[in-house]
Amino acid sequence: MEMKKIEVELFTFNCIGCGKCVSHCKQGVLKMVDNGMCRFVNVVDETRCLGDGLCENICPKKAIKITRNQTSATNDFCFK
Ligand code: SF4
Repeated sequence: MEMKKIEVELFTFNCIGCGKCVSHCKQGVLKMVDNGMCRFVNVVDETRCLGDGLCENICPKKAIKITRNQTSATNDFCFK
């Protein structure tokens, strides 16, 4: 059985903290972080990502990359 593994890669140094990606993601994958000096995006839970790429496409600074990999699922129930 094939499964999709979706990875959310952030290039935080490019992020200008506009929050567009967070407001477009209905899955709650991303959140904004404010450390008192700057505001930037971070990942809350990558496993929620559907891989639709809305955040990647809306980002004006190309600070997000979504990678969709096909992986083979392991079967933990098999005897070895
Ligand atoms: S859309 Fe891009 S620049 Fe704006 S907060 Fe998200 S990652 Fe940062």
